[in-house]
Amino acid sequence: MMKETTTVLLVDDEPSLRWTMAEFLKRAAYNVLTAADFDDALEIINNTDIDVAVVDIFLPHKSGLELLRQMQARAPSVPVIMMTGDPDASHIPELIRAGAHDFLPKPVTKDVLINAVSRGVEKKRLVDVKRRLEREIQSHAEHLEARIAARTTELAEAHNFLNAVLDSSTEYAIVVMDTESRITLFNRGAETMFGYRAAEIMNEPAERLVAKDESGAGLEQLRRGWREAQEVGRSRVEIKLGRDDGSSFVASLVMTPIASKSDDRSLGSLCIIKDLTSERQSEHALRQMRARLAHNEKIAALGQAAAQVAHEIKNPLAGLSLYAGHLKNKVGDKLADNEVILIDKIIETINHLSNIAEQVLNFARPVALTLQPIDLNRVLTDIVHLLEPQIAANKVKVTLQLTEAGAVGTLDETSIRAALMNLSLNAIQAMPDGGELTITTETRRDKLAVSIKDTGVGMREEQLKNVFEPFYTTKSQGLGLGMPYARKVIEQLQGDIKLQSRQSQGTMVEVELPTEFKAEAFAAQLTL
Ligand code: ADP
Ligand code: MG
Repeated sequence: MMKETTTVLLVDDEPSLRWTMAEFLKRAAYNVLTAADFDDALEIINNTDIDVAVVDIFLPHKSGLELLRQMQARAPSVPVIMMTGDPDASHIPELIRAGAHDFLPKPVTKDVLINAVSRGVEKKRLVDVKRRLEREIQSHAEHLEARIAARTTELAEAHNFLNAVLDSSTEYAIVVMDTESRITLFNRGAETMFGYRAAEIMNEPAERLVAKDESGAGLEQLRRGWREAQEVGRSRVEIKLGRDDGSSFVASLVMTPIASKSDDRSLGSLCIIKDLTSERQSEHALRQMRARLAHNEKIAALGQAAAQVAHEIKNPLAGLSLYAGHLKNKVGDKLADNEVILIDKIIETINHLSNIAEQVLNFARPVALTLQPIDLNRVLTDIVHLLEPQIAANKVKVTLQLTEAGAVGTLDETSIRAALMNLSLNAIQAMPDGGELTITTETRRDKLAVSIKDTGVGMREEQLKNVFEPFYTTKSQGLGLGMPYARKVIEQLQGDIKLQSRQSQGTMVEVELPTEFKAEAFAAQLTL
């Protein structure tokens, strides 16, 4: 804002001149302050804002030049017009050096005075504007600097934050590739997943991440993902990727295009990668477990039904056996020999039937585990002794390859003995014309491994599929409970049973049992 009046300081020691000039200026609408000497003038300068000064070079005590210097020091923007009566111009350079704005030779006419003052005022105005603009520019610059510093800090923080977020994802690999498919970001999760360090893979073509063996198909997948992402904004492909060490894995790759905010130009794409290996494995395990559960349920139901029947016939059978014995004792001596043989046959058959009933009941009953350290080497040696008659009858050669250190595990003796007995008996029965039975024990870290191998008839595909079904048998005298019983026991002991068999070549049954029984797993199994 312009001041309403413009103040002129007029310094001259001659009263009449001072008065006349002041009158000229007042008439030209200036506000005029007058001083007769240096001290008066300084007093005014110190207390009032003036716009222009008109100073006589000759003043009493201290000269106008001295006053000019003082004014320049105190208010450098105020133009000072010097008046001189001296026609000789020798002191002018000194005045210029001291900062004088203009010179007026005395006597000063009205027009000359007014012109000079108004030029001075104009100069003052311009200088003030310039100063103001300079100050504004300065403050703008400072403001800008502060803003830039703040934004830089913000950006650095955002960058750190983003990096922390990116690196905190270790389950997912986060990879950014540019429009030329070159890798421009590779987070820690990616380093772990692929085995490359970010620094070494940066700017490399993304195809280096695709599994080598099918780089053609993999690249096609990658391109398909890219195209789809460009079209619909996001894509998901399943793709086989490769690690630094040459191994490969199936992964899900979600791709999102990255576009420039300002002009929508494509900058590349963001890929979020998840290794599906363990997911696939657990899916597979789950499927297996489901099948197993369904199967176990079937077995339980079948066993229950069979057990009911067995239970129903067990008591009458015991009665029959008793009657038959009684009959033989009472009338045996009155009967012909062949008739006694008939009674013996009846008793034998009854015993056989109750034996079967007992086996069925045994199969259906839940196995009560009494867990204690059991040495399987001892159990298997016992079994071979007990089966001596069958071994001899079938002319089987038995080889025991037992670990010297012993095969001790926390097991239930009764049930594991019965299970291994069934397996050994099956092996012997598979070799009616002789052969070799090899029983091996081994300890592998926290596992016991038993293998029972025969050189017998082996199994057809269809047999292999059904061996664990209760009552599945290919033997005329068979009951078909040996294998399902063995598996039930082994699984309750948290072990595993596997078969390898070839028709007319033989069969190998492999049993794996943990050396330590895990009670929590058992509890979980019970609640299933
Ligand atoms: P069983 O012995 O009463 O027939 P299992 O459950 O013990 O009942 O066996 C079921 C069937 O599995 C047998 O009938 C036989 O067909 C087959 N099997 C089991 N073990 C062997 C083996 N070592 N060699 C050939 N077949 C076998
Ligand atoms: Mg059997």
